[in-house]
Amino acid sequence: SIMPATLSAISNGARRGILFKGGVHLENLGNLQAIALDKTGTLTKGKPEVTDVVIRENLQEEDFLLRVASIENYSNHPLATAIVRYAKSRITKELVKPTDMEDISGNGVQAYVGNEFWQVGRASFVGRDKAEQFQNGIALSLANEGKTIVFAKDEHGIAGIITLKDVVREETVKAIEALKKEGIYTVMLTGDGEKTARAIAIESHIDAYIAECLPETKVDEIKKLKEQFGTVAMVGDGINDAPALATASVGIAMGEGTDVALETADVVLMKNNLPRIAEAVKLSKKMNRIIK
Ligand code: ADP
Ligand code: MG
Repeated sequence: SIMPATLSAISNGARRGILFKGGVHLENLGNLQAIALDKTGTLTKGKPEVTDVVIRENLQEEDFLLRVASIENYSNHPLATAIVRYAKSRITKELVKPTDMEDISGNGVQAYVGNEFWQVGRASFVGRDKAEQFQNGIALSLANEGKTIVFAKDEHGIAGIITLKDVVREETVKAIEALKKEGIYTVMLTGDGEKTARAIAIESHIDAYIAECLPETKVDEIKKLKEQFGTVAMVGDGINDAPALATASVGIAMGEGTDVALETADVVLMKNNLPRIAEAVKLSKKMNRIIK
């Protein structure tokens, strides 16, 4: 049976926009030692915008954008949405329907446009060496500014890159500082590259970060944190975060996140309100004292 103090804390939470799918999660939050947070869509708004497009010499920008956007049009990833929106504003031709489209979570997308095979995504997805060679060739310092670089590859190699900039949520620093004040170790997990990750981590005031995470790397990092700290929460919004949400002692989903994240999580933050996490921790500590 559920304790009156737990019930009252759950309804108190609901009023403040934090939904608990059971009393045990509230109790666990009161014992929280460490918290991992996803970057895109969690610490940041997850609404990136295209800032630069750089393409291989023998290509036309219009042809490049048409192919990349035609494929991204079938992905729900925030980067895909931004790329399609940008491409539509720059090209006059209609997007085409690709074939054999695959959306590979945490990596990118691939498909045939006509008989050309294209891959669009992170450096390791299109081949790290070639990707870095291309990037170095144009001496970009883009990732240092917290921009994400998406690589596009056709059958001849890297065809071009698209850089995107996402912004840190206004309430992120406040939320992270409040968690630290409760003695909780904070760490950012992201599929994005090292330099971009560092820039966003610094801006967020977070204790630590791990870049280039695949969905399964996020799971491994949660397991390590549990061994090291005990009770560990994970906060995320994407399909790619679902395995890590399930592995954490407490999985917390952003209210505007994907269905899979919302279903997997133990706790849901309505209105994406990050500062509510530290408030819930305080509430839970108080509740745990009453129960004991
Ligand atoms: P995060 O962990 O920051 O939320 P993801 O795991 O969703 O990021 O994605 C990791 C990386 O994979 C992105 O930074 C991007 O380079 C690449 N990626 C994933 N999906 C796509 C896509 N649809 N289009 C382009 N790149 C993608
Ligand atoms: Mg995300």
